[in-house]
Amino acid sequence: MRPLRFHRLSGLTGLVHDRTVRLAVTGLSGSGKTAFITSLVCNLLSAGGRPARLPFLRSAAERRIVGAKLLASDDGTISQFPVHHTIAALADDPPHWPPGTTDLRRIDLSLRFVPAGLIGRATGGTAELRLEILDYPGEWLLDLPLLGRSYHEWSRVALDLARRGAREPLAGEWLDFVGRHRANADGDSVVVRRAHDLYRAFLAACRTREQLSLLQPGRFLNPGHMADPSLLWFCPMPLPIGARGRAGSLGAIMEERFEAYKRAIVQPFFMHLARNVDRQIVLVDVLRALNAGEEAFTDQRLALETILEAFRFGRRSPLRLLFGARIDRVLFAATKADHVPALQRDHLEALMANLVAVPSLRAKAAHARVAAAALASIRCTDDGTDVIDGRKVDVVIGLPQGGERRIRFFPGIVPVTPPPSGFWGERFTEFPIFQPPRIAGAGGDGVPHINLDKALEFLLGDALA
Ligand code: GDP
Repeated sequence: MRPLRFHRLSGLTGLVHDRTVRLAVTGLSGSGKTAFITSLVCNLLSAGGRPARLPFLRSAAERRIVGAKLLASDDGTISQFPVHHTIAALADDPPHWPPGTTDLRRIDLSLRFVPAGLIGRATGGTAELRLEILDYPGEWLLDLPLLGRSYHEWSRVALDLARRGAREPLAGEWLDFVGRHRANADGDSVVVRRAHDLYRAFLAACRTREQLSLLQPGRFLNPGHMADPSLLWFCPMPLPIGARGRAGSLGAIMEERFEAYKRAIVQPFFMHLARNVDRQIVLVDVLRALNAGEEAFTDQRLALETILEAFRFGRRSPLRLLFGARIDRVLFAATKADHVPALQRDHLEALMANLVAVPSLRAKAAHARVAAAALASIRCTDDGTDVIDGRKVDVVIGLPQGGERRIRFFPGIVPVTPPPSGFWGERFTEFPIFQPPRIAGAGGDGVPHINLDKALEFLLGDALA
């Protein structure tokens, strides 16, 4: 029998009860999911022996976490998060970054702790928190709006977007191709496939060359494991207004596949999320988007709005309406905060909070259901100072990957609100990839981080109370 879900017990904290929290971790590619989960697992596994690693996780600071272990997950359908490999990469000599998330993955932990409440203390017993962590590409969340759109509507929106800004020069070959093959022409599988491939190549160029984020459908660049890859073989097409594609025409084939994609991929994914998640953390590489310039930053903001929509609370929450979701806490976290020194990290948290219009963790979000933070899952730098043009400035000091000497890196000033157009003249310096610190073989000493403990307190604090 499944253990009782924690949220049903939330009014009873203090009783010695076993609890389960199902925490989902997401974020667009490269946002830091793998690093976050690896650090979280190592730091929780070592929380009993090294509580000083997590001073802002109350249960750890109060030395109430008495033990933690990995559990074999009982779900044969989802692959395991490869924690032994990710730890081995960080324990290697020299340490290196493990590969990122490309599919749904899961890892389960059990934490034994002494409840803080009077009854818990009086009985002297310990309780167990079962933490089920689900890891998935954030790109998949970008498909939520597709559920409410017809193929015609989606095509129109996608074509409009492709004809604007940084996308336009990258879309040329695909737009030419779909311009030459009319939607009511006979459906030819070779043409359909070619149109899909060109559209996909366009999305890939948007991501790698322009660092854009709002790239739909989400599975085109992040398919994950797919039993039937042909479900992806479609793309937006210019369509006459109001026209329904003639059966067997190019437009009709595209439309059928679009609907099949929604039915077979998108709906089941959101259903899974709704039924298997209590808490969600969304990781965002805000610094990379800032660094890439105005259009990348604006595009990331649009992608965030789409993601935010998925986790909206209240009666109008689409996940709740469509799939009965009961997610009760969401944290948006700007990652890799060790790229900037202390004061800038506060700026980064404020900027993250501004981007999603929610309170920041510093603004004491204990009772908020959505909050924003800035964190570094794996801290690779120390804070320091340098003198630039006769002025003392705060810098971070770290070893660039593959380098021989630590460098002093001045990242510039992080704006606390989305920057106005004038700001973008001076682009941020390119951020180096810092080599991660080498950790002890089994990860048993934990991993240096910034604010991981604050994030955990927000996400799990009540379950460990
Ligand atoms: P994923 O694709 O979301 O799983 O992203 P990863 O966890 O693989 O992170 C992508 C890259 O970001 C890593 O290879 C690192 O170079 C960098 N990174 C992730 N977390 C941190 C961090 O806390 N600090 C620093 N300096 N870099 C990080």
